[in-house]
Amino acid sequence: MLNHDGFVPEEEFINGDYIRETLEKSKAASDEEIERILDKADRFEGLTHLEVAALLTNENPVHLERIFQIAGKIKEHIYGDRIVMFAPLYLSDYCINGCTYCGFNCHHKYNRKKLTMDEVREEVRILEKMGHKRLALEAGEDPVNCPIEYILDCIKTIYDMKTDGEIRRVNVNIASTSVEEFRMLKEAGIGTYILFQETYCKETYEKMHPHGPKSNYWYHTTAFDRAMEAGIDDVGGGVLYGLHDDPNFEVMGLMLHNEHLEKKFGVGFHTISSPRIRPAEGTDPTAMDHGVDDEKFKKLVAIVRLAVPFTGMIISTRETMEMRKELIKIGISQISGGSSVDVGGYSARERNEPQFILSDSRTNEDVVDWLMEEDVVPSFCTACYRSGRTGDRFMSLAKSGNIKNVCLPNALMTLTEYACDYGSDEFKRKVDRLVASKLPKIDNEKVRTLVAGNIEKIKGGERDLFL
Ligand code: SAM
Ligand code: SF4
Repeated sequence: MLNHDGFVPEEEFINGDYIRETLEKSKAASDEEIERILDKADRFEGLTHLEVAALLTNENPVHLERIFQIAGKIKEHIYGDRIVMFAPLYLSDYCINGCTYCGFNCHHKYNRKKLTMDEVREEVRILEKMGHKRLALEAGEDPVNCPIEYILDCIKTIYDMKTDGEIRRVNVNIASTSVEEFRMLKEAGIGTYILFQETYCKETYEKMHPHGPKSNYWYHTTAFDRAMEAGIDDVGGGVLYGLHDDPNFEVMGLMLHNEHLEKKFGVGFHTISSPRIRPAEGTDPTAMDHGVDDEKFKKLVAIVRLAVPFTGMIISTRETMEMRKELIKIGISQISGGSSVDVGGYSARERNEPQFILSDSRTNEDVVDWLMEEDVVPSFCTACYRSGRTGDRFMSLAKSGNIKNVCLPNALMTLTEYACDYGSDEFKRKVDRLVASKLPKIDNEKVRTLVAGNIEKIKGGERDLFL
């Protein structure tokens, strides 16, 4: 039963032949057509998968320059110059799948581990001291060692912790599951349900996932249908670049998937992650054959930004500091900081097997400091989810152009809270200077006055103020 053998959805919304044909045909798009598409993106209207295909296959450097320029404009216009911070928390590396590229695959022999509830609390206390308010829970797939009840216990343990710097939003990145189990996650109060498609190419998918429950392409690809049916409004997708030989195909898959969710549920991806494959112990080196180079990767990220201007875009510590700096300018709105990708890695009494090797191993403090040097406001905001701004309610606020008037204020308030709770005197002064330079960017005078007042209240000891 767990192999989901024979599972095929009512509608096969990803069709490899169609994607390949569309990409081929789109190579004929004229300069006028590309300019029309770019003008549309420049008006924040988003793009269809056909328009995306035309941009993906166009090699003209003049158009590429404009793609980057518009991506930067969209990012600035919609979200303002803030970056939301989060950290992954690895709960369990027990896994019965054979994903050829992942250090947790079942053929890799090492001592597996899952956190006890005391260890969950210990890890969370460390993450809180790093300033984090938003976590992404990660686990391998193993219904015996890591059943849904265990994940639910972890979520409850985290939300129940009554500490000073509490975790306010718990996102979950676990295997595709049933509507019933998604309902349990919804009831437990998760934020976003995140699942990477890995690859949209069915043949490559089957090669990379030779056995185990994850091997059924369609059961995996329809996870968000079941999550949304269960009432989870915010779902986060992504592909693992490097598995399939054509990254354009992967972006097309993402677009068709997004259009499918929009058509069926009225709202598409809340976030899109763009992980690139990294070396990992115990994996098949040929799984890394199709790495995407930096220039191509930037182009893909920017085109996604143009296509879905209101979708959050996430980059993890799989990318180097230099790369993250460039990606922030062209559309990324969320990054992780100070991450550990092994079970128990934050308390690290014993070193465990990491899922893959990181590219950015700076502390969260260093990442925050660096963002500020880049004139970006690191944000520990968790307001939307807690104010009921999820799913289409979030999207309509974003589309009205008003999300910026909420994001920047919340970023300034949460950064001040972070400085008060964890910063040195020198860091506090630095935050004060940044806040003073960014406050005038809040257009609405009433909101500006409110935020300035709230910042004083936070300095006076009040916490968790948000719009
Ligand atoms: N086990 C669940 C699953 O596979 O969907 C939950 C998430 S898994 C812990 C997190 C993600 O890490 C995977 O979806 C995969 O995209 C990514 N990952 C695995 N191996 C990787 C590697 N070598 N380099 C970069 N990312 C990797
Ligand atoms: Fe297991 Fe997920 Fe790693 Fe695959 S990617 S081996 S399912 S943890």
